[in-house]
Amino acid sequence: MSMNREGRGATAPEIHEVHQDHKTFTGNRALRIEEALLFEIGRPEVTGVDLPEPPKVAKRLGRHERKAPINLPGLAEPEAVRHYVRLSRHNYSIDNGIFPLGSCTMKHNPRLNEKMARLPGFGDVHPLQPQSTVPGAIELISELSRWLIELTGMQAVAMSPKAGAHGELCGMMAIKAALEARGEEHRKVVLVPDSAHGTNPATAALIGFEVKPVPARADGTVDPEEVRKRVGPDVAAIMLTNPNTCGLFERDVVEIAKAIHDAGAYFYADGANFNAIVGKAKVGDLGVDAMHINLHKTFSTPHGGGGPGAGPVVLSERLAAYAPRPLVVSDGGNVALLEHAEGGAAESLGRMTAFHGQMGMYVRALSYMLSHGADGLRQASEDAVLNANYIRACLQDLYSAPAGDRPCMHEILFDDSFLEGTGITTLDIAKAMIDEGFHPMTVYFPLVVHGAMLIEPTESESRASLDFFIAAMRDLAMAAKAGDTARFKEAPRYAPRRRLDETRAARQPKLRWQAPEPMAAEAAE
Ligand SMILES: *Cc1c(COP(=O)(O)O)cnc(C)c1O
Repeated sequence: MSMNREGRGATAPEIHEVHQDHKTFTGNRALRIEEALLFEIGRPEVTGVDLPEPPKVAKRLGRHERKAPINLPGLAEPEAVRHYVRLSRHNYSIDNGIFPLGSCTMKHNPRLNEKMARLPGFGDVHPLQPQSTVPGAIELISELSRWLIELTGMQAVAMSPKAGAHGELCGMMAIKAALEARGEEHRKVVLVPDSAHGTNPATAALIGFEVKPVPARADGTVDPEEVRKRVGPDVAAIMLTNPNTCGLFERDVVEIAKAIHDAGAYFYADGANFNAIVGKAKVGDLGVDAMHINLHKTFSTPHGGGGPGAGPVVLSERLAAYAPRPLVVSDGGNVALLEHAEGGAAESLGRMTAFHGQMGMYVRALSYMLSHGADGLRQASEDAVLNANYIRACLQDLYSAPAGDRPCMHEILFDDSFLEGTGITTLDIAKAMIDEGFHPMTVYFPLVVHGAMLIEPTESESRASLDFFIAAMRDLAMAAKAGDTARFKEAPRYAPRRRLDETRAARQPKLRWQAPEPMAAEAAE
C-alpha cells in the first residue's frame, strides 16, 4: 500500500517493485509523478466552479429519481489541471520521439495543418448547415477528392468512411452491391492472403462473405499461381495489401488482378501502405477496383490518441456507380454534395454514416497535399522508403530479415531467428526498447514470420534520429547475443509500470473501479 496525496490508502501500483532498492516515500520518481485515479483523489464535496443554487423545479422523474448522492469525484481547478497534465505525461507520441510502429504509419503532423483546421470557416461548420452556407467546405472536399483520384488513377472516391476498417467495409459493400446487380450473389468467397491485417478478414466476414486464406511465399509475397488455384465462380473478391504488411511491393500484382478479373471477381486493395507509393504508382494502373486510403496514415492527419481517422475509398469504373452517399459531384465549376441516391446513380449502396465524414481531417490532409505539392508528395514517399532501407542496411548484419538482402518499401520486417538460443524473445526486445526511450516497433505482426518485428520510420525522421535509433537497436542485439538476459527479462525497468499480465487483463478485465474499504465505509456514512 502506498499513500497517495490525499493520505488515503490507494491501490498500490507496482512502482515500488520497480525500485526495490531505491524506494521513495511518495512513490514518485524525481519529477515523474505517480498519479492516482480521479476517484481516489477526488472528493464529492469539492468543485472548481461556483454555481448558484438551482431554482426549485417540479420533480418529474417519478420513481427514477436518485435516492442517494452520486458521489462523483470533485477537484479544485488546479488539482484538475494537474491530474490531466500528469496523466498526459505518461503518453508517448510522435511529438515526443520516433514512433517506429510498422503498418500503422505514425508520421509527423505538420502544425500548418492544425492552423488550417482551426480556421473558423472550417472549424465551426456544422454538418446540419444548409449546403448553400458552406460552399467552401464542399469545395474543399471536392478538391481533396480530386487529389485522391489523381494520385490513385481511379474513377470515383467515397469520402465518408471514418477509418481504414470502415473504408474496407464500404469497398466490400460496393463489391457486394455490384455482384447483386449482376445477379451473382452466389459468389461468397473472399480470398485474403496470410499476411493481411486482421481487419480484412473481419470486414469480409461481417458482411457475410466466407474468407479463404492464400498462403504467402517464404518472403511474405503472394504467388499468383496460388491465387489462380483458388479463384473460381464462387469467388467474389481478393483483398490484397500493396505494398504488403511485410514491407514488400507485390510484384505480381498485375497478374493477380488479371487472375481475379478473368474469373469475374473484384480486386479490393488495402491502401494502408499507400504512404510508400504516393506519386510513384497509380493503383488504377494495377487493376484495383476499390481501395481505402487512411488519411491518418498517409496524409499525416493525427491518429491514435490524437484524433479520429478518415478512410476515403477510391473506386474503379466498375464500382463507381455503387459509391455511398453523400458524394461530392462537380458539374462544370459547381460542386455539390449528393445526399440521396435519387438524382445520382440508382445503384448507390446508400449511406454509411450520418454525416459527411471527418471534415477536420479533410482540411489537414489537403493542407499536407498542397504544402508538399505533387513533387513533394512523391519525395515524401521516396524518403519514407529510403529511411526504411537505411535501417534495414544498418541492422541486417545483426537482425534477421526474412526477405534477405532484398530492398524493402516503407517498412522493414525482421523475424526472431537471430535470437535463437539466447532465450530472449521479440517481446523482450520490445520491452528493452522502452527502457532505452523508444516506443517499440510493431511486434508479432504480420503472422507470416516467426516473432515479427516490423519497423516503419516514415519520412519524418532525420538522419541523426535514425542513427540514434539504429545505435540503440544494435546495442540491444549485441547484448542479446552476448547473453545479457537480465537486461531483457527485467525490462522495462524504468517505465512507470513493468510487465503487465496482458493475457489476464484481456481475459478478466476489471472494468469497474471499486472503492477501497475505508472509502466505501466513508461513502456509506
Ligand atoms: C491501419 C490498417 C488498417 C485499418 O485502418 P484503421 O484506420 O485503423 O481502421 C487496415 N489495414 C492495414 C494494413 C493497416 O495498417
